[in-house]
Amino acid sequence: MAKVKFNPWEMALEQLDAVAGKMKLDPDIHAILRKPRRALIVSIPTKMDDGSVKVFEGYRVQHSSTRGPCKGGIRYHQDVTLDEVKALAMWMTWKCSVVNIPYGGGKGGVVCNPKEMSQGEIERMTRRFASEINVIIGPEKDIPAPDVNTNPQTMAWIMDTYSMNKGYCVPHVITGKPLEIGGSLGRNVATAQGCFYTIQAAVKKMRTTLKNKKVAVQGYGNAGFFAAKFLHDAGAKVVAVSDSKGGIYNAKGINPETAMEHKRKTTTVVGLKGTSKITNEELLECNCDILVPAALENVIQADNARRVKAKIIAEAANGPTTPEADAVFRAKKTICIPDILANAGGVTVSYFEWVQGLQGFFWTEKEVFHHLKGIMGRAFEDTWDTAKREKCDLRTAAYILAVSRVAEATKLRGIYP
Ligand code: GLU
Repeated sequence: MAKVKFNPWEMALEQLDAVAGKMKLDPDIHAILRKPRRALIVSIPTKMDDGSVKVFEGYRVQHSSTRGPCKGGIRYHQDVTLDEVKALAMWMTWKCSVVNIPYGGGKGGVVCNPKEMSQGEIERMTRRFASEINVIIGPEKDIPAPDVNTNPQTMAWIMDTYSMNKGYCVPHVITGKPLEIGGSLGRNVATAQGCFYTIQAAVKKMRTTLKNKKVAVQGYGNAGFFAAKFLHDAGAKVVAVSDSKGGIYNAKGINPETAMEHKRKTTTVVGLKGTSKITNEELLECNCDILVPAALENVIQADNARRVKAKIIAEAANGPTTPEADAVFRAKKTICIPDILANAGGVTVSYFEWVQGLQGFFWTEKEVFHHLKGIMGRAFEDTWDTAKREKCDLRTAAYILAVSRVAEATKLRGIYP
């Protein structure tokens, strides 16, 4: 029988429905939360280097602005779909709520493969996309940020395009900007730093330490690389890492910086001296204590979840684990720190960047990490306590916390008109 194609939006709804049942969520509020508030589909004609015109498709989805402006990244990937962006926007609502920052959720995406495009082509596509979504974004409406395959340079182009349209400089329309134009210290490592804090807290709950714990990291972008580096620096042993071209393994340990140097030179971690080649699937099942999926959705399903050896999983990616795999982890008592908590460090420092931009007053790196640690620590403890009280896993607990805050805000504001 052909496998049904994975749909992240259906998965997001399934997660919401499960928790709504458990927490006896008001059916009217449940019905509201099941829909994105607004979704924009845009066409992005782009002049390519060879003189031809390619028309890309892009999306910006605003799931909720009940607790504050919509917030969430923009991803560039050939497999982006409207349903994926809808799911990612809904997950942003829960993420901002679980760490209790005053935002709703949004997300954007463009169907393209930036790895096959020149910088000029990416810039022209980015600027046209920014112009097309210009009508719904803004510092008090919806604030984009980086995500898969976008970076501070992409954010700078969006900030410039928005500002040129306004006629004055509006840095706080976007976060994840370069420092020189109003970015925040610490933002580039924030997702991994927050993820590291949650792993540290989970390890502590298990009454052990990170020393010599075997770590496997899937994905070697911003989140994956820095997560590997922070875990390595804290005494853990990184035994496997991977990127879209494959993975590498060494039971004696891999130096994350050396792997990054190799990737910079050759475009992949594969082939690093002293390591053996493994597939991305093998990485998830390798002999390790801590597994960090830091790439894309839907990589851990029921069948391979049974073969995962890690005792702790920290989801640096959004949506890597399906609800069926969650059931396997519940039965195996594997601790899975859910995406909406484990990778919330990125949006938390984005929030700091926005606050600093609005005030025109910038913090030291020490202040940024001090506040990040405080917010992540509190969110982890709240989630842990909720899981104990409700006798459920950490994902269900994080959802109970997040959904109840959004539900309460919806009730207080009431339905307009
Ligand atoms: N794209 C990141 C995420 O999925 C960061 C979003 C933001 O900083 O607004 O959380």
